[in-house]
Amino acid sequence: MPRYFFRHPKTRDTTNTLPTTRFAPSPTGLLHLGHAFAALFARQAGTRFLLRFEDIDPSRCHPEFEDAMREDLAWLGLAWEEPVRRQSEHLDDYQAALARLEADGFLYPCFCTRKEIEREIAQIGNAPHGPEGPLYPGTCRTLSTDERAERLASGTGHALRLDIARARAATGPLFWVDREKGPLPAEPAILGDVILARKDIATSYHLAVTVDDALQGVTLVTRGEDLLESTHIHRLLQALLDLPVPAWHHHRLITDSEGRRLAKRDRALTLRALREGGRSPASIRKELGFA
Ligand code: GLU
Repeated sequence: MPRYFFRHPKTRDTTNTLPTTRFAPSPTGLLHLGHAFAALFARQAGTRFLLRFEDIDPSRCHPEFEDAMREDLAWLGLAWEEPVRRQSEHLDDYQAALARLEADGFLYPCFCTRKEIEREIAQIGNAPHGPEGPLYPGTCRTLSTDERAERLASGTGHALRLDIARARAATGPLFWVDREKGPLPAEPAILGDVILARKDIATSYHLAVTVDDALQGVTLVTRGEDLLESTHIHRLLQALLDLPVPAWHHHRLITDSEGRRLAKRDRALTLRALREGGRSPASIRKELGFA
């Protein structure tokens, strides 16, 4: 018997309700114009608007950036519902979801190091690639039960991967709806057997985001189009965990004058720097296309 049961809210009928949206930054630095666009986009698309700090990686996230983000968002004229969800305070929720997936046979422990995976891929030669590079070659999926038990017993660190083929076989074909692109078939194999719990952190982006959006009642997920591939995985996870299915709207990314997407290196474009340089919130909203 699984140790935890994952309790989930009843599937909501969202056909006639106004959307709940969220802005979900990781507190790893100051917000820049790209974040401002994402936050304003979510605010405009939603009736209820939530803020969530995706702070599962303690080596990269710092509470002082949360304070700075709150301050910058408020300066921009945004208001959100309290309390703000901090992922680091909800590890039990992710654990419960993992326990359910594990009990249903959709996870396997992966002991591979990054180097081992690279070596294995080089040996395969023509390894399948996804949008983020070569896919995990499935080395640990095919370990024998004895081998697996031995390695677990020896305490070798391991991640937990989602067995995509097995999961897809269980759910059958799935679809999801993007507000702009229309209904799309879910193609979770595009990212391979993704990690759902890292060796060092007992969850992952994919798992935490999917569980949180369901538990927080988010009905319209807005985010940058760089995360479009992830949605295929999230849709599969919703089916495996019986979670309500939101709609999505993947929006364009704000780029610098050379067409590169904004990142932490663009210090001049942080809201903080713009504010200190005398820019008004109204002029930033206008530049980004919001009234
Ligand atoms: N935390 C993610 C980011 O900062 C966004 C999460 C999401 O919208 O799914 O890019």
